[in-house]
Order: sequence, then structure tokens, then C-alpha cells
Amino acid sequence: METSVPPPLIQALKRQKYHFVGRHSAVKRCRWLYETLIHDRPCYKQKFYGIKTHQCIQMTPALFYCTQQCLFCWRAQSSDLKIKWDEMKLPILDNPEEIVDGSIKAQLRILSGYKGNLDTNKQKFKEALTPRHVAISLAGEPTLYKHIGELIQAYHKRGFTTFLVSNGTMPSVLAKLSEEPTQLYISMCAPNEKKFNYICRPQIPKAWKNLKETLDLIPSFKCPTVIRITSVHNLNMENIKDYAKLIDKANPTYIEPKAYMHVGFSRLRLGYESMPSHNEIREFAKQIARETSYNIIDEAQESRVVLLSRLEKTIRFD
Ligand code: SF4
Ligand code: SF4
Repeated sequence: METSVPPPLIQALKRQKYHFVGRHSAVKRCRWLYETLIHDRPCYKQKFYGIKTHQCIQMTPALFYCTQQCLFCWRAQSSDLKIKWDEMKLPILDNPEEIVDGSIKAQLRILSGYKGNLDTNKQKFKEALTPRHVAISLAGEPTLYKHIGELIQAYHKRGFTTFLVSNGTMPSVLAKLSEEPTQLYISMCAPNEKKFNYICRPQIPKAWKNLKETLDLIPSFKCPTVIRITSVHNLNMENIKDYAKLIDKANPTYIEPKAYMHVGFSRLRLGYESMPSHNEIREFAKQIARETSYNIIDEAQESRVVLLSRLEKTIRFD
């Protein structure tokens, strides 16, 4: 991999089973791929929105790069491993078609590991060889990749649905997307600026102002939109009235409070006890519902996530 990132970091990520694609993208097996192929347990997004877990690629076009250093993030951040690099500077940009091709190839490599496994669901495996959905999330801020709109377009041209997850600190990029994703997620993991600076540790000036600008932009999207609140025990599950004000401003189709998971590099920053239980997430969601016009419409205990909406039923993509 040709990149300006220090080799020890690349080695550390390879050990964590990241499959590098070009200079700045990567694919990683989602644990739910294993669960659905072996135990017939799909992920909560299949349950909520109908996208097929076994046909989903989990990828990022900005593996080492982000405008924030959230305490709860599983990605490697500069200085986590006493290795430093410029997290704001992507190298020479790969073109979207190359990234799409590379991500599909990486997914097929990942899938090859299931071929000989007697417990693999044969029908699902056959379908999995034709991926149909991409979660553009995994790690890093995807809007730092300048051609993100074209990347979405390139996936759509191949018949994929796309879920884009952004931290909302680059509103100018989101405002000018050449193509909308199938569904847009904006992470809003703090109720006010003080908490935001403490939890999300922005690496650019005016990040909170930018996030609020993005919240104002949300109603202009035609696709379904989601406010994701990665919820950390004793850290950001309070100040409900402040959350309600931000939610009203954004008017998203859905709100997803979801528990922080003690995995990846976040283990260097937070303790195991920072993971809220599903009951705590449900209680947090109930408090949000009380302060807003949103209702709880679904939940997935195994992922510790609750879904709120004003719709009675979700918009599905199956
Ligand atoms: S939608 Fe998300 S959780 Fe579900 S399989 Fe894809 S990456 Fe995994
Ligand atoms: S915005 Fe996302 S990728 Fe960036 S540090 Fe936070 S959780 Fe990680």
C-alpha cells in the first residue's frame, strides 16, 4: 500500500484484518457477515431497513483520516499507538471506480474463507458472491475523500444501495454531493458544544458550528436520514432537552441511539463499563421520545440499538 502513513500502523491494522484498497480505502469483515452465514442471524439494519447482511460490504474511503478523535471510536487515531500522522491529509486520491472494484475484490477474498465451511448457509453464500449493499462507514470521515459523491454514484451504477455515515463536520461537502446515498447517517454524539469538544475531540476549528450547519441541511435531503447517537455510559446519555433541540432542528427520518462497543482501539481510551446495556439504551430512547415528536418503532437487543421515527414503519430496501 502506497501511503504516507507509518508502516507500523499499517501492520497493526493488517493484524486487525483490515483489507486495504488502493491508497486510502479499506474493507473489513463485519461480524454480522459471520453471524448471518453461519448462524442465520442478520444485522439490525436488515431487520430495520431490509438491506441484506450477507450482501453488504463494510468499507471506508478514508481509513486513516478524520476531522475528529472521538473517545469511543474503534479506529486507530494518531498517537494511540505512539505513532503520529496527519489525519487530515489524504494522499493522491484513487478514483471511485478503482475503489468500487477493489472493495468488491476484497469482499470476495473475505468470503472465500467461508467456502469450505460446512456450517455456511449455501444459498446465502451464493448470493453473497454478488454484493448489493455498501456501508460507507467502518473508520474515518468519508467526506474527507473529495470524490465521495462520485463514489456513491459508482456503487449505484453497479446496482448497490449505499448507506453513508458522516460526522457532519464538512457541511460544504454534504451540500454539494453529486449523488445522494440511499440513506444518510449523521453522527451526533454530544448534546452541546462543551460535551462535543470533550467526547468527539475535533481536529478542525468550528467543528460544532459545522455539525449544526449539517443538521440544518438534513431536511434538504430526499433520501431517508438518520441521527446516530453512539451512546456511552456516564458520558453522553444526559441533557435530553439539548438533544431534543438539535433533533428538532435536523428533523431526520430516524434517530438511532446505539450503545458504544468496547472494541478496537477504543479500548485504549475507555473502559469496559462504558458500554451501556440495552435497557439503558431503551431508557435513553424513551427520554428522547418524551422530549420530541418521535416514537420508538423498533429495537435490536443484540446490537443494543433502538429506532425512533415519526413514521409508523421504516422505508425498506428489500
Ligand atoms: S449494514 Fe452494517 S452491521 Fe449490517 S452487515 Fe453491513 S456493515 Fe455490518
Ligand atoms: S467521527 Fe467517526 S471515524 Fe472519526 S473519530 Fe469519531 S467515530 Fe471515529
